[in-house]
Amino acid sequence: MRRFLPLLTLGLLVLVLADRVSRALNRGPSGSDQVASETRSATPDLRRRPTDAARAPAGGAGEAGATRLARLAAREALSREAGSTYLDSLILSTDSVVRRWPDRWGLPIRVAIMEGGPPDYDPRMAGYVRTALDRWEGLGIGLRFALVRDTSQADILVRWIDHFDFDRAGQTDLTWDQSGRVRRALVSLALRTNTGVILPDDALLSVAVHETGHAIGLPHSADSNDVMFPATRTGVLSDRDRRTAAVLYRLPPGPVRDLVAGRGR
Ligand SMILES: [Zn+2]
Repeated sequence: MRRFLPLLTLGLLVLVLADRVSRALNRGPSGSDQVASETRSATPDLRRRPTDAARAPAGGAGEAGATRLARLAAREALSREAGSTYLDSLILSTDSVVRRWPDRWGLPIRVAIMEGGPPDYDPRMAGYVRTALDRWEGLGIGLRFALVRDTSQADILVRWIDHFDFDRAGQTDLTWDQSGRVRRALVSLALRTNTGVILPDDALLSVAVHETGHAIGLPHSADSNDVMFPATRTGVLSDRDRRTAAVLYRLPPGPVRDLVAGRGR
C-alpha cells in the first residue's frame, strides 16, 4: 500500500492531460486571412462591452505612426524574447495572431465563479481558482481581476463538471476577434478523471492555474516545469511562465505577420 499511493498520485498527475483551448472565433481556414466568423459565443452585446474600450482612446493624426512604432517595438521584443518564452506556441496555435485581453485602462477583468454543480463539489475548489487568479495578477503586468456574481456581466466564467468524457481535467473556451482581442473565456474544471478517479487537491490547483493561464491567452509550453505544460504538474509559475505572460501583455494584439520581419502579408 505504501508503494501504491505514490504511484496512484503520479498516475493521477499524468492523467491531468491534454486539455485544449478551443477557438470560438477566428477559426478561419489555415493560410487564409482571418475572418471573424462569429459562432456560438458571439452574442450581440459582445461588441458593446467595455473590452472594446482599448479602441476608444486611440485616434487622431498620429495613430497610424504610433501603432506602427508599437508594432516595431513588439517585433523586436518578440524576437529578443523568443528563446526564453513559449510565445512561438501561441503563434502556431492561433494562425499567427497575438491574442490577449486588450488593455482595459485600469478596469479589471470580471470573473464569475459558478460554484456548485457536481455532487462532490466543495467550496475550497473556488479558493483554488482565486489563488490561480492571484498568481497571474501578482505578476504586475497590468492584469487585474474582480469577482462578480452576475454571470451575464462576467468576462471569464468558471464552472465545474464531474468529469470529461475523454482524458482531460480542464478546458478553456476562448473567444477573440480578428484583431486578437480576447472577448470572453469559459473555463471548465473537472473533479474526476474520465475513469472516475477523484482528482487530488494539488492537481485541482494546478489545473486551475493552467486553465486561467489559457483564459488570459497563454498557449501551451513544451517544458514540463512550466504551468502551461499540457500535462500540468505544478501550480507554481516558472520563470518562463512569468516571462511569457509579461511579453504577451507588452505585445499589441493582432496578426503577427506585421511583427515578424521577412514574412509576407
Ligand atoms: Zn492546456
